[in-house]
Amino acid sequence: MRTTQADVLIIGGGLAGLCAGIDLAHAGYEVLLFEPKAYPRHKVCGEYISNEVLPYLKSLGFDPFDHGAVAISNFLWTHPDGRSISARLPLGGFGLSRYTVELELFNLAKEAGVVFITEAVVAIQSEPDGVTAKTSNGKLFYGRTGIGAYGKRSVLDKKLAREFIDEKANFMAAKWHARGSFDATLVALHNFKGGYCGVSRVEDGLINFCFIATYDVFKKHKNLKEFINLELASNPALKELLDQTDMQFEQPISIAQISFKDKPPVEAHWLMCGDTAGLIHPLSGNGMSMAIRSASLAASELKAFLKGTISRKSLMVNYENHWKSEFNKRLRMGRIAARVFAHPKASSLSLQFLKLIPGLLPFFIRQTHGKLKPKHLHNEA
Ligand SMILES: Cc1cc2nc3c(=O)[nH]c(=O)nc-3n(C[C@H](O)[C@H](O)[C@H](O)COP(=O)(O)OP(=O)(O)OC[C@H]3O[C@@H](n4cnc5c(N)ncnc54)[C@H](O)[C@@H]3O)c2cc1C
Repeated sequence: MRTTQADVLIIGGGLAGLCAGIDLAHAGYEVLLFEPKAYPRHKVCGEYISNEVLPYLKSLGFDPFDHGAVAISNFLWTHPDGRSISARLPLGGFGLSRYTVELELFNLAKEAGVVFITEAVVAIQSEPDGVTAKTSNGKLFYGRTGIGAYGKRSVLDKKLAREFIDEKANFMAAKWHARGSFDATLVALHNFKGGYCGVSRVEDGLINFCFIATYDVFKKHKNLKEFINLELASNPALKELLDQTDMQFEQPISIAQISFKDKPPVEAHWLMCGDTAGLIHPLSGNGMSMAIRSASLAASELKAFLKGTISRKSLMVNYENHWKSEFNKRLRMGRIAARVFAHPKASSLSLQFLKLIPGLLPFFIRQTHGKLKPKHLHNEA
């Protein structure tokens, strides 16, 4: 039996789900958003957001700088052998914790009229005239359309038989906030064996440390503490930072089974957004922008469909094509850069090469980022 109906069902209230929800609610559509976890909450993330999404965030009513965001304009990459290279970030960005960003977007979404259902979705389907979602306590919801924004992996991926879910996901990651001295204009990427650690400032004078590593290297150690003390600290610049800062969490928060495999952006008539459609290697510092941008793209296509301007078929085809043309190149470049970072010799040679040709590093950074002006949004004037 159909219990509740809406124009749009959104599964997941991370960045992608919240932004799409606010956008669609502002346009006057009924939105039901399913998110089982309460706000605010910390998430494993580098917490550096590219400026490419600032205009869109502001259009939703969220200015990160009203909430303590720190402007970041420089990039530093250090190698375990002690060498480093730096560059100005072509577009720049800002640091703000996920704790704050999601809490503020959640408040804006509620104000805009998004209805939150605090349950996990356990099954989804497409129907000739829409989509349905079943929650953990057995309730069934119907939507004229649906967005899947449930993050990197979920039981829903298994149910949809998405290919990536059965493949080995060989990465783990952890993050913590710390206090101490660190250049506020900088986002630093410190390479170590099997991984890299991003360091940058967020609000309230805090410093965010977030590393990602292959599980093969991680599992050689007894626990996170030992891994940090032996592997992360093998990079002299990172060791100095670790020694000089005080962790503000009781212990780092961590996640495992991170996959960077391709995923289709449309499944069973659901438009997939953010990490549900594809996760870029975090060294690009651009996953959140992709999540926010894909939300804007999905909302734009959904508004056109709900207004009757395009058919259901065009909705699916347009979203898939636009998603691929916007993000496929970035994902490819992210994969290449991650492969280089994973091998000490390759990363050492690359660093040497980048040092020889000034301008090459900013060029590579641009390849994993979008432009300030999105290409494919419908004209909604
Ligand atoms: C180590 C690491 C560092 C990173 N650093 C950066 C960085 O510095 N800059 C950057 O731009 N990007 C970074 N990223 C990428 C960025 O964190 C992600 O791309 C971003 O979080 C994606 O947001 P999302 O909304 O798609 O997913 P999420 O933020 O994961 O949100 C998904 C939501 O769905 C909910 N959910 C899950 N299953 C269900 C279900 N069945 N029913 C209902 N709800 C459900 C979850 O509770 C969650 O709230 C990093 C990623 C990693 C792994």
